[in-house]
Amino acid sequence: MARFKKIIILMIFPDTMHAMMLESQKQPLVLKVVPVPKPASSQVLIKIIACGVCRTDLHIVDGELTQPKLPLIPGHEIVGTVVQTGEEVHRLKEGDLVGVPWLGYTCGSCKYCLRGKENLCENAGFTGYTIDGGYAEYTVAEEKYCFPLPAMYGNASGAPLLCAGLIGYRSYSMIDKNAVNIGIYGFGAAAHILIHVANYKHKKIFAFTRDHDLQAQQFALNLGAVWAGDSSKKAPQKLDAAIIFAPVGNLVPKALQNVDKGGTVVCGGIHMSDIPSFPYSILWEERSVRSVANLTRKDGEEFLNIAPVIPVETEIKTYSLHQASNALNDLRNGNVHGAAVLVMS
Ligand SMILES: [Zn+2]
Ligand SMILES: [Zn+2]
Repeated sequence: MARFKKIIILMIFPDTMHAMMLESQKQPLVLKVVPVPKPASSQVLIKIIACGVCRTDLHIVDGELTQPKLPLIPGHEIVGTVVQTGEEVHRLKEGDLVGVPWLGYTCGSCKYCLRGKENLCENAGFTGYTIDGGYAEYTVAEEKYCFPLPAMYGNASGAPLLCAGLIGYRSYSMIDKNAVNIGIYGFGAAAHILIHVANYKHKKIFAFTRDHDLQAQQFALNLGAVWAGDSSKKAPQKLDAAIIFAPVGNLVPKALQNVDKGGTVVCGGIHMSDIPSFPYSILWEERSVRSVANLTRKDGEEFLNIAPVIPVETEIKTYSLHQASNALNDLRNGNVHGAAVLVMS
């Protein structure tokens, strides 16, 4: 019997796994065979089902985010199954479906953590940036930062919820609750999820895409946007708020010009090109510009509670693990409508 058990365990935990590694920035990812990581006492080992490919991954690979661990396994939209738990893990058990987001660790004791702003933690660890992520067959993650997932999201279509969904939701939660007419600049992974939430709450979405990207504009209209057009165009009416997901700084004054008195422009990305100077008059009348950084576990819990009720659905383009660089290139070139996801074999 003891021997039988051991054989099962060996089958579940191979010694090695495939992973796509970033060895140095501005270089293509490399397929490697590496040891399967062992969970620390507070961690779980996860067999990865799928991992989303986020624009942030592109900023890391391209060197626009400058502090990655190297070599690095990117990826922070992980869906998988817990296959082993550390000794101090109590909430999760083997067989549980979980999602692993960008926020991988916080200290719990810095001034930001103590004020309930763990997204700004001074000692935070970020999945797929300062901690190895999900472009691999297995990963380890801190139990406290994993989200249990409903069965409907335990597959590739659930992966984009873990960042595009969460950051989109956090960005949305930064605008006035009474805002009805909302502009979204950049209709990619985050926007195509957020529009489900907005429709559910009877908001009107005005989708701004790269100029002449008729395919993206049609995609937004199909998902329920009341208007879709080029980012350089003026909105057909004043907007109550705008969210910018595209990493393009010159959209900030454009969005401000479209936003009504008292409205907020939220910048949802982690990186943006420089914002050009603009006249004070387009900010005056209590308009504001703000950014969103990372997420809190509370954001994740709120969003993952509401997502299956709405229900949020994603449109995905799937790739195998070794095609990760193709997925990144498609994202860079605007060839993904919805979200790109790596599916492990
Ligand atoms: Zn902290
Ligand atoms: Zn992301």
